[in-house]
Amino acid sequence: MRGVPTRLLTELSAPALTAALGPDSVLVLPTGAIEQHGPHLPVATDLITAQSLAERAVKRFGDELDLWLLPPLAYTKSNEHAWSAGTFWLSAETLTAVLRDLARSVATTPARRLAFVNGHGGNSALLQVVARDIRVETGLRTFTLHPRLPADQGGTSPEGELGMGVHGGFEETSVMLHLRPDLVDMSQADRWVPEHLAGYRHVRFGGSVSFGWTSDDFGPAGVIGDAREATAEAGAERAAAAVDYLGEALAEVARFDPTPP
Ligand SMILES: [Zn+2]
Repeated sequence: MRGVPTRLLTELSAPALTAALGPDSVLVLPTGAIEQHGPHLPVATDLITAQSLAERAVKRFGDELDLWLLPPLAYTKSNEHAWSAGTFWLSAETLTAVLRDLARSVATTPARRLAFVNGHGGNSALLQVVARDIRVETGLRTFTLHPRLPADQGGTSPEGELGMGVHGGFEETSVMLHLRPDLVDMSQADRWVPEHLAGYRHVRFGGSVSFGWTSDDFGPAGVIGDAREATAEAGAERAAAAVDYLGEALAEVARFDPTPP
Protein backbone atom coordinates (compact mmCIF):
# COMPACT_ATOMS: atom_id res chain seq x y z
CA MET A 1 0.00 0.00 0.00
CA ARG A 2 1.40 3.36 -1.04
CA GLY A 3 2.58 5.60 1.75
CA VAL A 4 2.52 2.86 4.38
CA PRO A 5 6.05 2.55 5.76
CA THR A 6 5.84 -0.86 7.38
CA ARG A 7 4.24 -4.26 7.13
CA LEU A 8 4.34 -4.74 10.91
CA LEU A 9 0.67 -4.01 11.49
CA THR A 10 1.08 -2.74 15.03
CA GLU A 11 3.30 0.14 13.90
CA LEU A 12 0.25 1.73 12.25
CA SER A 13 -2.39 3.84 13.97
CA ALA A 14 -5.87 2.36 14.29
CA PRO A 15 -7.34 4.56 11.51
CA ALA A 16 -4.31 3.91 9.29
CA LEU A 17 -4.51 0.15 9.67
CA THR A 18 -8.25 0.21 9.09
CA ALA A 19 -7.65 2.10 5.85
CA ALA A 20 -4.75 -0.13 4.80
CA LEU A 21 -6.52 -3.48 5.27
CA GLY A 22 -9.10 -5.07 2.98
CA PRO A 23 -10.95 -8.39 3.00
CA ASP A 24 -8.13 -10.19 1.18
CA SER A 25 -5.37 -8.83 3.43
CA VAL A 26 -3.63 -11.68 5.23
CA LEU A 27 -2.69 -11.13 8.87
CA VAL A 28 0.30 -13.34 9.69
CA LEU A 29 0.61 -14.40 13.33
CA PRO A 30 3.85 -16.25 14.18
CA THR A 31 3.44 -18.76 17.00
CA GLY A 32 6.68 -19.67 18.76
CA ALA A 33 7.42 -21.45 22.02
CA ILE A 34 9.61 -20.86 25.06
CA GLU A 35 10.87 -24.28 26.05
CA GLN A 36 14.02 -26.21 26.85
CA HIS A 37 15.97 -27.13 23.71
CA GLY A 38 18.85 -29.02 25.31
CA PRO A 39 22.17 -27.61 26.51
CA HIS A 40 23.16 -26.10 23.15
CA LEU A 41 20.13 -23.99 22.13
CA PRO A 42 18.26 -21.10 23.81
CA VAL A 43 14.77 -21.67 25.16
CA ALA A 44 13.44 -19.07 22.68
CA THR A 45 14.53 -21.19 19.69
CA ASP A 46 11.02 -21.78 18.29
CA LEU A 47 10.03 -18.14 18.85
CA ILE A 48 13.14 -16.87 17.06
CA THR A 49 12.64 -19.28 14.16
CA ALA A 50 8.93 -18.56 13.62
CA GLN A 51 9.33 -14.81 14.01
CA SER A 52 12.44 -14.44 11.83
CA LEU A 53 11.18 -16.57 8.97
CA ALA A 54 7.70 -15.00 9.01
CA GLU A 55 9.31 -11.54 9.05
CA ARG A 56 11.48 -12.38 6.06
CA ALA A 57 8.52 -13.75 4.13
CA VAL A 58 6.32 -10.72 4.88
CA LYS A 59 9.15 -8.35 3.98
CA ARG A 60 9.72 -10.10 0.67
CA PHE A 61 6.15 -10.92 -0.41
CA GLY A 62 4.09 -8.46 1.66
CA ASP A 63 3.51 -5.79 -1.00
CA GLU A 64 2.64 -8.34 -3.66
CA LEU A 65 0.33 -10.47 -1.49
CA ASP A 66 -1.04 -7.86 0.95
CA LEU A 67 0.52 -9.57 3.98
CA TRP A 68 0.70 -7.94 7.40
CA LEU A 69 2.78 -9.23 10.29
CA LEU A 70 1.36 -9.35 13.81
CA PRO A 71 3.66 -9.51 16.86
CA PRO A 72 4.42 -13.17 17.62
CA LEU A 73 2.86 -15.26 20.32
CA ALA A 74 5.85 -16.31 22.42
CA TYR A 75 4.25 -18.61 24.99
CA THR A 76 2.33 -21.56 23.65
CA LYS A 77 1.63 -25.23 24.40
CA SER A 78 4.89 -26.83 25.51
CA ASN A 79 3.81 -29.28 28.18
CA GLU A 80 5.97 -32.02 26.63
CA HIS A 81 8.85 -29.98 28.09
CA ALA A 82 7.10 -28.94 31.32
CA TRP A 83 9.50 -31.08 33.39
CA SER A 84 12.35 -28.65 32.66
CA ALA A 85 13.24 -25.24 34.01
CA GLY A 86 13.26 -22.77 31.15
CA THR A 87 9.97 -24.00 29.72
CA PHE A 88 7.22 -21.38 30.01
CA TRP A 89 4.00 -22.74 28.66
CA LEU A 90 0.23 -22.40 28.40
CA SER A 91 -2.23 -25.24 28.77
CA ALA A 92 -4.22 -26.30 25.71
CA GLU A 93 -7.29 -24.65 27.28
CA THR A 94 -5.48 -21.34 27.87
CA LEU A 95 -3.86 -21.23 24.43
CA THR A 96 -7.20 -22.03 22.79
CA ALA A 97 -8.81 -19.15 24.68
CA VAL A 98 -5.96 -16.76 23.82
CA LEU A 99 -6.14 -17.57 20.11
CA ARG A 100 -9.92 -17.22 20.03
CA ASP A 101 -9.67 -13.85 21.79
CA LEU A 102 -7.02 -12.64 19.34
CA ALA A 103 -9.12 -13.81 16.41
CA ARG A 104 -12.10 -11.85 17.74
CA SER A 105 -9.85 -8.79 17.66
CA VAL A 106 -8.68 -9.56 14.14
CA ALA A 107 -12.33 -9.78 13.12
CA THR A 108 -12.85 -6.10 14.07
CA THR A 109 -10.40 -5.11 11.29
CA PRO A 110 -11.38 -5.22 7.60
CA ALA A 111 -8.99 -8.19 7.09
CA ARG A 112 -10.71 -11.57 6.68
CA ARG A 113 -7.69 -13.86 6.44
CA LEU A 114 -5.62 -15.01 9.42
CA ALA A 115 -2.58 -17.25 8.97
CA PHE A 116 -0.69 -18.86 11.83
CA VAL A 117 2.99 -19.38 10.95
CA ASN A 118 3.89 -21.96 13.54
CA GLY A 119 7.42 -22.72 14.75
CA HIS A 120 6.57 -25.38 17.34
CA GLY A 121 5.31 -28.88 16.50
CA GLY A 122 3.55 -29.15 19.87
CA ASN A 123 1.08 -26.49 18.67
CA SER A 124 0.16 -28.03 15.33
CA ALA A 125 -2.81 -30.18 16.32
CA LEU A 126 -4.27 -27.47 18.55
CA LEU A 127 -3.93 -24.82 15.82
CA GLN A 128 -5.91 -26.98 13.42
CA VAL A 129 -8.72 -27.36 15.93
CA VAL A 130 -8.73 -23.66 16.87
CA ALA A 131 -8.52 -22.57 13.21
CA ARG A 132 -11.87 -24.24 12.61
CA ASP A 133 -13.42 -22.83 15.80
CA ILE A 134 -12.33 -19.34 14.72
CA ARG A 135 -13.78 -19.88 11.25
CA VAL A 136 -17.13 -20.85 12.80
CA GLU A 137 -17.15 -18.10 15.44
CA THR A 138 -15.86 -15.12 13.44
CA GLY A 139 -16.21 -16.03 9.76
CA LEU A 140 -12.48 -15.40 9.24
CA ARG A 141 -10.69 -17.65 6.80
CA THR A 142 -7.97 -19.34 8.84
CA PHE A 143 -4.77 -21.12 7.82
CA THR A 144 -1.92 -22.91 9.61
CA LEU A 145 1.56 -23.05 8.03
CA HIS A 146 4.94 -24.27 9.20
CA PRO A 147 8.17 -22.61 8.03
CA ARG A 148 10.15 -25.64 9.08
CA LEU A 149 8.44 -28.89 9.94
CA PRO A 150 9.83 -31.15 12.63
CA ALA A 151 10.08 -34.81 11.63
CA ASP A 152 7.03 -35.77 13.71
CA GLN A 153 4.92 -33.39 11.60
CA GLY A 154 6.07 -34.57 8.18
CA GLY A 155 9.43 -32.75 8.05
CA THR A 156 12.78 -34.21 7.11
CA SER A 157 15.51 -35.58 9.34
CA PRO A 158 18.93 -36.77 8.12
CA GLU A 159 19.59 -40.51 7.92
CA GLY A 160 21.85 -40.44 10.96
CA GLU A 161 18.89 -39.32 13.08
CA LEU A 162 16.83 -42.33 11.86
CA GLY A 163 13.95 -39.97 11.06
CA MET A 164 13.76 -38.87 14.67
CA GLY A 165 15.28 -35.39 14.57
CA VAL A 166 12.26 -33.73 16.15
CA HIS A 167 13.75 -31.45 18.79
CA GLY A 168 17.12 -29.69 18.93
CA GLY A 169 18.64 -31.87 16.21
CA PHE A 170 20.46 -31.16 12.95
CA GLU A 171 17.84 -29.03 11.20
CA GLU A 172 16.84 -26.85 14.09
CA THR A 173 20.39 -26.32 15.31
CA SER A 174 21.53 -25.43 11.78
CA VAL A 175 18.76 -22.86 11.35
CA MET A 176 19.70 -21.29 14.70
CA LEU A 177 23.39 -21.22 13.71
CA HIS A 178 22.25 -19.17 10.73
CA LEU A 179 19.76 -16.89 12.53
CA ARG A 180 21.45 -16.37 15.92
CA PRO A 181 24.89 -18.02 16.08
CA ASP A 182 25.62 -15.98 19.22
CA LEU A 183 23.02 -18.03 21.10
CA VAL A 184 24.21 -21.52 20.07
CA ASP A 185 26.83 -23.42 22.08
CA MET A 186 28.19 -26.09 19.73
CA SER A 187 30.56 -27.35 22.46
CA GLN A 188 27.40 -28.77 24.09
CA ALA A 189 25.99 -30.30 20.88
CA ASP A 190 25.65 -34.07 20.95
CA ARG A 191 23.83 -37.03 19.43
CA TRP A 192 20.61 -37.88 21.25
CA VAL A 193 18.87 -40.41 19.00
CA PRO A 194 16.67 -43.07 20.69
CA GLU A 195 17.93 -45.93 18.49
CA HIS A 196 15.93 -48.51 20.45
CA LEU A 197 12.80 -47.06 18.79
CA ALA A 198 14.01 -47.53 15.21
CA GLY A 199 12.29 -50.94 14.89
CA TYR A 200 8.77 -49.54 15.34
CA ARG A 201 7.00 -49.31 12.02
CA HIS A 202 3.72 -47.69 13.04
CA VAL A 203 4.29 -46.20 16.49
CA ARG A 204 6.93 -43.64 15.62
CA PHE A 205 7.34 -39.92 14.96
CA GLY A 206 5.20 -39.20 11.91
CA GLY A 207 3.93 -42.81 11.90
CA SER A 208 0.34 -44.04 11.49
CA VAL A 209 0.02 -44.41 15.28
CA SER A 210 0.74 -41.20 17.15
CA PHE A 211 1.74 -41.31 20.76
CA GLY A 212 1.66 -38.89 23.66
CA TRP A 213 5.24 -38.17 24.64
CA THR A 214 7.28 -35.91 26.84
CA SER A 215 10.81 -35.00 25.87
CA ASP A 216 12.34 -36.65 28.93
CA ASP A 217 10.83 -40.01 27.89
CA PHE A 218 13.86 -40.45 25.63
CA GLY A 219 16.59 -39.56 28.12
CA PRO A 220 17.57 -36.75 30.47
CA ALA A 221 18.89 -34.33 27.81
CA GLY A 222 15.41 -33.59 26.46
CA VAL A 223 16.76 -33.49 22.90
CA ILE A 224 15.72 -35.88 20.13
CA GLY A 225 18.13 -35.67 17.21
CA ASP A 226 21.79 -35.20 16.37
CA ALA A 227 23.12 -31.64 16.57
CA ARG A 228 26.81 -32.42 16.08
CA GLU A 229 27.01 -31.85 12.32
CA ALA A 230 24.83 -28.72 12.27
CA THR A 231 26.24 -25.79 10.27
CA ALA A 232 25.24 -22.20 9.56
CA GLU A 233 25.44 -22.98 5.83
CA ALA A 234 22.91 -25.79 6.11
CA GLY A 235 20.76 -23.46 8.21
CA ALA A 236 20.94 -20.65 5.64
CA GLU A 237 19.85 -23.08 2.94
CA ARG A 238 16.90 -24.29 4.98
CA ALA A 239 15.90 -20.77 6.00
CA ALA A 240 15.93 -19.63 2.36
CA ALA A 241 13.88 -22.67 1.34
CA ALA A 242 11.44 -21.96 4.17
CA VAL A 243 10.95 -18.34 3.06
CA ASP A 244 10.44 -19.45 -0.56
CA TYR A 245 7.90 -21.98 0.64
CA LEU A 246 6.09 -19.42 2.80
CA GLY A 247 5.87 -17.08 -0.20
CA GLU A 248 4.32 -19.79 -2.37
CA ALA A 249 1.96 -20.99 0.34
CA LEU A 250 0.87 -17.50 1.37
CA ALA A 251 0.15 -16.66 -2.28
CA GLU A 252 -2.48 -19.43 -2.17
CA VAL A 253 -3.67 -18.34 1.28
CA ALA A 254 -4.21 -14.83 -0.16
CA ARG A 255 -6.52 -16.06 -2.93
CA PHE A 256 -8.01 -19.26 -1.51
CA ASP A 257 -11.78 -19.39 -1.95
CA PRO A 258 -13.68 -22.66 -1.38
CA THR A 259 -16.94 -21.24 -2.76
CA PRO A 260 -17.94 -22.92 -6.06
CA PRO A 261 -17.54 -20.48 -8.98
ZN1 LIG B 1 12.10 -26.34 18.64
